[in-house]
Amino acid sequence: MTRKPRRRTPVAKPAADPRPHHPLSPSNWTKWVKCPGFERRRDDEDEASRARLERGNRAHAMFEAALTGEPVKDTGEDACDLWEQAEWAAGEIARVAPRNLRVEVRLEMPQYFGYADATADGHVWDLKTGYFDDGYRAQLAGYALAIMDAEMRDELTLHLLYSEHQRHEEWTLTYDEAAAIARDVLAARAAAVEKREGLVAGDICGRCALAGTCPALATAAAPAIEAAVELIPAEDRPHVPAGQLTSESVTSDPLAAGRFLFAFKAMEDIAGRAEAFVRAELMDGRPVPGFELQNGASPSYVPAEEVVRWVPSIGLERVVAAYGGMPVASFKKLYAQVFPDKEFPSAITHQGKGYKRLCRVKPRKSKKAKALTA
Ligand code: SF4
Repeated sequence: MTRKPRRRTPVAKPAADPRPHHPLSPSNWTKWVKCPGFERRRDDEDEASRARLERGNRAHAMFEAALTGEPVKDTGEDACDLWEQAEWAAGEIARVAPRNLRVEVRLEMPQYFGYADATADGHVWDLKTGYFDDGYRAQLAGYALAIMDAEMRDELTLHLLYSEHQRHEEWTLTYDEAAAIARDVLAARAAAVEKREGLVAGDICGRCALAGTCPALATAAAPAIEAAVELIPAEDRPHVPAGQLTSESVTSDPLAAGRFLFAFKAMEDIAGRAEAFVRAELMDGRPVPGFELQNGASPSYVPAEEVVRWVPSIGLERVVAAYGGMPVASFKKLYAQVFPDKEFPSAITHQGKGYKRLCRVKPRKSKKAKALTA
């Protein structure tokens, strides 16, 4: 990436709403420095992901309000916490006495555009509400490059504000350093997209849309799968020939899929025990390469005693209707406690929609296999 001898002003434009997204935006670089082939899964927006996203959006809105002095409209139950975090982040920015402070700034390079949370003369800040991630440094380098390019600066100070943990990371990049990061990330991305080169399997694979067909992940997972297959008693293994399992084969070939699931189920248990061990080591202060314990927000709930206290005001019918039905076993237990001499009225139970459980069974040789071995 070469620096163009031009001066563009203004460097930043107000973001449109909804703001467009560039496919090469630095917000993707966080993942691409780990694996340049990473593609965000669209179907992973489960309830927990949505809740995280919503909380992140609210935290950013508060941060903006804390910087601009605009009124805050958030009435969520954790609004006070978010406001405290936003004020902390705004305070960190105020410490450098910023000149020409701007929020939610669109930054452009010929190859991409993206949005930084705040900029001022010589500085760029981004607010992060989740866990620490070194990949964010590449994202900020992308923003910093756009600023330096537009303002003809040779150096910029970058800031990551982890508001939930009140951790402020600050460092300086020269134009050449930022350009080198951008060049490397974009070149690796191009090679990954065009030739599937440079893929690196790791913990982000679980959130990658390509996980089902990725050759790098199949290669990385193969030894673990093979090792797990060895853990299963021979007579318990499906009668299928051994062979390398790939992401493609385990999702298209029934024999390979069977072997893979046997292995995976065995690994699940071992992985659970390995995780417990790693947690214990870290809790005791012994390092485990590649892992650390970080604080996370646990899901909020209304305790049972509070529900009981509010039932008279809200109404039992509305509370139960909102909560939903009860498992038959739990209801039966309750019934037996209150009516110990009465038979349970089975007619009040309902059968859920047909759900078929996947069970492990002893493999049987097919007629074809028997004929071959006869
Ligand atoms: S599944 Fe493949 S492309 Fe996706 S992150 Fe993992 S290694 Fe990269």
